[in-house]
Amino acid sequence: MSSSMIVPVIDVQGNNFKELWGAMVLAIKTSSFIALDTELSGLGPRKALLAESIEDRYKTICHAARTRSILSLGIACYKEIDNKVRADNTYLVQVYNLTLLCSEEYIIEPQSVQFLVQHGFDFNKQYAQGIPYYKGNDKGGDAHGVNMRSLFVELLRANKPLLVHNGLIDMVFLYQCFYAHLPERLGTFTADLSQMFPSGIYDTKYATEYELRFAASYLEYAYKKCKLENSRAIESGGNGTHVFLEFCKYIGNMQSYIDYRPCVDNQSQDGVRSVCIQFSAYGWCPNGSHCSMSHDTDLIIQHDENTREDKRKKRKRKNKNKDSQAEVPPETCESPQGKRMHFEGMDAEVDHQDQTRSQPTLPENQEMTVASEPTDGGHAFEHGKTASKNGNYVSQPQASSEAPDRPNEKKVEGGTHRAGFDAFMTGYIFAFAKTCAAKSEEFTTAPLIPGCLNKLYLSGKSVPLNVAKSTFSKSSKAHVHKMDYVWGKSTAVKTE
Ligand SMILES: [Zn+2]
Repeated sequence: MSSSMIVPVIDVQGNNFKELWGAMVLAIKTSSFIALDTELSGLGPRKALLAESIEDRYKTICHAARTRSILSLGIACYKEIDNKVRADNTYLVQVYNLTLLCSEEYIIEPQSVQFLVQHGFDFNKQYAQGIPYYKGNDKGGDAHGVNMRSLFVELLRANKPLLVHNGLIDMVFLYQCFYAHLPERLGTFTADLSQMFPSGIYDTKYATEYELRFAASYLEYAYKKCKLENSRAIESGGNGTHVFLEFCKYIGNMQSYIDYRPCVDNQSQDGVRSVCIQFSAYGWCPNGSHCSMSHDTDLIIQHDENTREDKRKKRKRKNKNKDSQAEVPPETCESPQGKRMHFEGMDAEVDHQDQTRSQPTLPENQEMTVASEPTDGGHAFEHGKTASKNGNYVSQPQASSEAPDRPNEKKVEGGTHRAGFDAFMTGYIFAFAKTCAAKSEEFTTAPLIPGCLNKLYLSGKSVPLNVAKSTFSKSSKAHVHKMDYVWGKSTAVKTE
């Protein structure tokens, strides 16, 4: 079973930010939901991020957000396309990867630099072309122009459901970098957030663990598993709702800003190697690329499914003949249940998040992109043969079913435009989880995934962080002031 596709990621930086502004704001305003992801210059000491007290964790993340910075921001806009023919969910997806440069001093951790350099991150490029921003409260009239703070205001005004993956850290950094000084108390922060995003915040890591209940919940695993399940459902021709994606066909100047990111499934070269248990659980392994075991997510998913199937058969046998119990080998640490050790999971994820950065596209590669006349590759969920299936009910003129001709594959190695692609994957997990949750509720006013509304994943905790304004929590002054600006003074703070 394979399903592959190519995701166009629009590379936004200082020299095209103004040019792309209109397209970005339109994509934000017209979307059904929006996924965000950030790449950071560091997080500070790991242990404090895992403090038992959530209030303490919040303080630690706040300190990191004040002293570190966001290096890149991924925005994936999913717009549901009206589809009268079938019950399927078809989305027009636009993915932006913004390279940023904080104008104030900030810390870059040595291990982050090391990782960035290893992955070809071009610091000259970032310092020359990163979109500038300053942190904390608005200064002067800078919330008006074409800049990051204004873009964040547009995001708030659009009032769409917001999606993140393991997103508490993202939300704290976004608040500090593009919105206002962080409040001292966690309760104030969550109260502010609930008013900033009245359509709700969804954490797809929480959704993966508590709605989808996959064996692991790290981003790539969850995404690939969702994609696999969706493909299978389509192939089996069941009545359920399926997810289809469309991408815009970019023309003119736009073409030169796009990085076509292939996402090829089941191309594993690791068929004979066994999976790395550490990586299969957390999506991260201390041995990195030197690990002798396989870190291939497709192989890991396959392995998990085989393990599950083995256990099912064993259970059957066990029930048939209780005397044979002794023959059943004891469960090893490889069992999917063993992966629910949130504490270590976060440890791994935090390290992972800390180390991942996006890499700006090199100018010569952009030229190559133009020369290759790429089109979008948006029909990948249909195994190459059924592009007409989408054509039946998607009449978007910009939608195309041709696979791009890509002689310049080299530039997408090693996870370039990471924030953009991670945001894309987050959106996809949500779209898939939504089809699973949609069976019970059909009211248009109901939350998209009721069980996950305003719940941020907390590593090592069995309960999420609720994004809500409690009776006792106040809104921060900076936030109230900002809400006046976003919604206009007369309406003041907008609540449900
Ligand atoms: Zn490993």
